[in-house]
This record gives sequence, C-alpha cells and structure tokens, in this order.
Amino acid sequence: MLRAYSLTNSKELSQRLNDKSFFSLERQLAAEFVRQNAVPVSTNVAKPCPLCDSDNTVLFAVIDNVSYLRCCDCWSIFIPACQEIIEEYRNYSPIIALRSSDEYQDIARMKRERIWQELCFWLQFRTARYSGSNKELSVIDIGNRYEGLREQIQSLFNSYCPCDTINDAKYKADIVLFFTQIQYCTEPITEFIKISDKINSNGLLYLSARVGNGFDVLTLKSATDTIFPYEHALLPSVDGLYIALEKSGFEVLEIISPGSLDLRYVMENMDALSDDNLLLRYLYEKLDEQTLLEFQSFLQKANLSSHARIVARKREGGG
Ligand SMILES: [Zn+2]
Repeated sequence: MLRAYSLTNSKELSQRLNDKSFFSLERQLAAEFVRQNAVPVSTNVAKPCPLCDSDNTVLFAVIDNVSYLRCCDCWSIFIPACQEIIEEYRNYSPIIALRSSDEYQDIARMKRERIWQELCFWLQFRTARYSGSNKELSVIDIGNRYEGLREQIQSLFNSYCPCDTINDAKYKADIVLFFTQIQYCTEPITEFIKISDKINSNGLLYLSARVGNGFDVLTLKSATDTIFPYEHALLPSVDGLYIALEKSGFEVLEIISPGSLDLRYVMENMDALSDDNLLLRYLYEKLDEQTLLEFQSFLQKANLSSHARIVARKREGGG
C-alpha cells in the first residue's frame, strides 16, 4: 500500500467549507432528530469495533447525549447504534429539504468549487494511473448530495450514475465513488461487500472520510462543533479502514490525508478545551501563521489529518 501525501499551498489556514448559517441549521435539525430518537448512553457501552471487531472499546465522548466509543486497537470512533436509526436520520425530511434547496446548493458551489476541482483532478489522475484511459470507464457515485460536484465528475466519464445508496445501483461499474458516506455506516464491512458486488473485477473504489485518528477529532473530543450525531455515526481510523477494506475483498492501493482544517477547527474551539491543555494553548498563543501551516503540513504527511482519501481495487476474481 502506498501512503502518499499532498500539501496545502495556501498562505493561510484554510477557510471552513460550510456556510455558518446553513451549518447551524443542519446541526439544529440533527439535534432535533436525536432528541426524538436518542440511543440511551448507558445501554450500549460494550459494542465491538465495527471495523476491526475488537472488544476493546472505551467511551470517547458524549455529544448531544449520544455516546461515542473509541476502539483501543484501531482507533476508530463510532456510535453504538443500529443501522436502522441511521437510515431514519438520513431520510429525515427537514434535512433532505434543506440540503436540496437551491440556496444551499448555490452556496456549496461557491465555497467548494476549488476543492471539488482538486478532488476531480485527483480522481482523474489516479484513474489514469490505475486503470488507464478515463473516458470509457463507468462510474457509480453513491450519496453525493452536491449538484455542482456531480456535474464536475460527470464531465470526466461517459457513463455516470449517481445513486442515493449502493442498493439503488442497477448495474456493475468500473468505478464506485463513496465520498463522505462511511460516516453513516454502522456495519461498514457489510457495506463494502455490497459495494464490491457492484464493481467489475479489478475495478476501483474511491473513498473519502472524516477519520477518527485525525488531530482535531482526538484533541477536541466532546468539544468539537463539527462532529455530531447521527451525521457522524462512524469515524473510522486510517488503520480501521485498511482492515475493513482488506476483509471485504479489496486491495488498498493508496491512502492520503490531505485535510487542511484540523488546526482551524481546534483554534476555533480553544475556549472549550481545558485550561491545562498547555501545548495547544502555547501553539495558539505563541506560534506564527507560517509555523502553524507547517504543523498542518506535518499532520497531512503523517496521516494525522482528519480527512482521508483512499483508492482500493477489487481483487481479481472477486464477485
Ligand atoms: Zn477497531
């Protein structure tokens, strides 16, 4: 497996990708759903890790009265909830209506265009590297809620099929895109096997995820304002993803961790951290912007950023 990295070149720490007012609305709607469908904190503390199956899990954080567990072996973080409740959340109509509104989509286009271009370049480049010519390949894109991103990806391939879930895919394809979807999976191995069934032999899976071993996730714990139930039911670690994909019949070709927002998220939530977190307070108070940027670059190189991308190939003969 190749562990690669790409560095941010921006002169300042990256801006948030979410529009503040839409994000707080999403957060509020999610909290409403959770209040109506809460999983009691006390009843689920002994669930094994959904990625590596270890029983060695401990309470990591409690957010909106929902417990998050951490796997002590692979460092993945997860809510010990059943898949049904996560599906109900995904189908919660107030959130669907908000995210499909023209205004939401327009602001997403405005704020995310540059990152989508970079994502598409990565997709095109890696596809050429691992599968040769791009245009003739067929693509299934699962759960992509951004019209602007769908348009950009569609322009790269002759056959492009966006689907809400992998169950909606009617045919097999050469490539499946699973961008920021693993966070809704309480049974990721089952999901990967379903995905594998929809990929032609030797085809590729591209996956992106918020990861549990990311710097801001591990630092902020319950003080995070970007992780919340049930939007983030699973934050797999890089190791956990590797284990689960290999178990599901994939060969992991490449993992990168190009996230650029870890330090920004931590600095924006500094007040919520305990006063004795001296190293972070020192970073925040004393270091200049350039040094902080170099720190973020280190996080990217060491796969410690909380946004990861993976390319995996379905093993020959599988399905
Ligand atoms: Zn684990």
